[in-house]
Amino acid sequence: MQYKFEQPVHGSIGALKYQCTIEWRNGKIIADEPATNGGGDTGADPYTLLLSSLASCTLITLRMYIDRKGWDIPEIAVNVNMFQEQAGEQTVTYIDRDIVFLSPATDVQKMRLKEIATNCPISKILEGDIKVRTFIFRDVEEAKTVKYANEEVTVLWKPELCQHSKRCWTELPQVFDYKEKKWINPSGASAEELANQIKRCPSGALTFLNNK
Ligand code: SF4
Repeated sequence: MQYKFEQPVHGSIGALKYQCTIEWRNGKIIADEPATNGGGDTGADPYTLLLSSLASCTLITLRMYIDRKGWDIPEIAVNVNMFQEQAGEQTVTYIDRDIVFLSPATDVQKMRLKEIATNCPISKILEGDIKVRTFIFRDVEEAKTVKYANEEVTVLWKPELCQHSKRCWTELPQVFDYKEKKWINPSGASAEELANQIKRCPSGALTFLNNK
């Protein structure tokens, strides 16, 4: 398991209905709800953000392909929209993507670009098998704690809080090895690496202490 991003996309909301700040590696964007849903419409709503992801991925993928081929198609655009239908117990979501050629292109080029668009990375994610895992950080003082220490550092693990995200043992296997009974070896990495990894635990199961 390896995350796509070193730092996760970070979102936060205060009391102002329903303005969210989304921080990404090079800036911030605002998300909100329209006035009809009680928001201030100060930023794109979540459905728009979802469709924007597909629109931008489509355009970037097509631009890369057009440039690689050396085709003279300076401008393309895309319109993306969605609707939902009930099929028995299931809600089926349809996303329609219309590719618009603002510069002339041959029919062969258009058909090839349609095929390329259907294979853009976000299309593949949306049409593939998606699982959203949700973790929650808890700070339960009285939870049973197991201690793993060397001279320099101590790692505390609260098994009842662990939500089995696999983050620790896939990202720092030289320290965390779930196959071992004594599964945390605090000497397997530097104190800094260990502290950084423990900060990524989403459940509050791990605590790092510097013994010095
Ligand atoms: S990172 Fe935390 S929650 Fe995930 S498996 Fe390790 S201890 Fe458990």
